[in-house]
Amino acid sequence: MIQLYIPLNFLGVLYREIKQSLTDLDKMFTLIDMPREIEDRTGAAALHLQHGLPVIRFENVSFSYDPARPILHDVSFEVPPGKTVAVVGPSGAGKSTLARLLYRFYDVQQGGITIDGQDLRDVTQDSLRRAIGIVPQDTVLFNDTVAYNIGYGNTEADQDAIVRAAKAARIHDFIERTPKGYATMVGERGLKLSGGEKQRVAIARALLKNPPIMVLDEATSALDSATERAIQAELRQVADNKTTLVIAHRLSTVVDAHEILVLDQGRVVERGTHEALLARQGQYAEMWALQQSRDFADSFASEGFAQ
Ligand code: ADP
Ligand code: MG
Repeated sequence: MIQLYIPLNFLGVLYREIKQSLTDLDKMFTLIDMPREIEDRTGAAALHLQHGLPVIRFENVSFSYDPARPILHDVSFEVPPGKTVAVVGPSGAGKSTLARLLYRFYDVQQGGITIDGQDLRDVTQDSLRRAIGIVPQDTVLFNDTVAYNIGYGNTEADQDAIVRAAKAARIHDFIERTPKGYATMVGERGLKLSGGEKQRVAIARALLKNPPIMVLDEATSALDSATERAIQAELRQVADNKTTLVIAHRLSTVVDAHEILVLDQGRVVERGTHEALLARQGQYAEMWALQQSRDFADSFASEGFAQ
């Protein structure tokens, strides 16, 4: 009993701390080196979500980080309530930028983004970010415990919920093997995690936060293919009852998407369902064929190894 009491009490203290500091977001901004230029406009209201799941709309969005170099050109799409829209395309096309704009790290220069009809510029950032879970391409962890890093974003979560999320993200066994388990310090000043381990912490965090909107930015790109397959199944289940924007490096994960956008140099060059895009025999079909042959070569190579 005593053994149980100590960690639970420890977590209780941790969570009171988190609750008191919703401004911890600022800590994150410093950590991920994002300028926090965006201010809530005076009189900004909390994002009001309709019943059921939210709808996201990008309407004629154009954006550049630097005026001399436009990044997105007139991008429009809708993620209907509870559906998944996927974005694919070459590196540098502007895919992650779409995710950053939805989280409002930056404001668009032309057009607008709305959630349930409310322009992102009119709602408070806190309410917006509470509604969205992001698994970013590169996760930066807080210099804090594993439990803090997973529980961050859901102040109500208890240890059981944290462990469940860690198991779903296939990171629990790894955590158990660290010296202090869930109380192990991670980040720059603690235990350094590999890219794949950090990614799984981020996935656990998003699963635990359980927001109505999910953004997955190449969420499993740093994982080996067996772990990736296991987590994909979990993520698919999660996406089932959320409005999801998924940026995919692996096309097999977008086959069921409501709509797939092919982004190239900041423009939507093709769009449609997987079948429609294959039938079109354009850029998407080409990417698909390439990936199929790569997957075949990989499985051939690993089987060869096993013999
Ligand atoms: P993708 O995710 O499709 O690989 P990104 O959206 O990350 O592409 O980037 C699109 C383009 O924007 C790239 O050319 C990249 O160099 C540029 N870019 C990304 N972030 C910044 C930034 N913070 N400042 C200036 N340029 C950036
Ligand atoms: Mg990217």
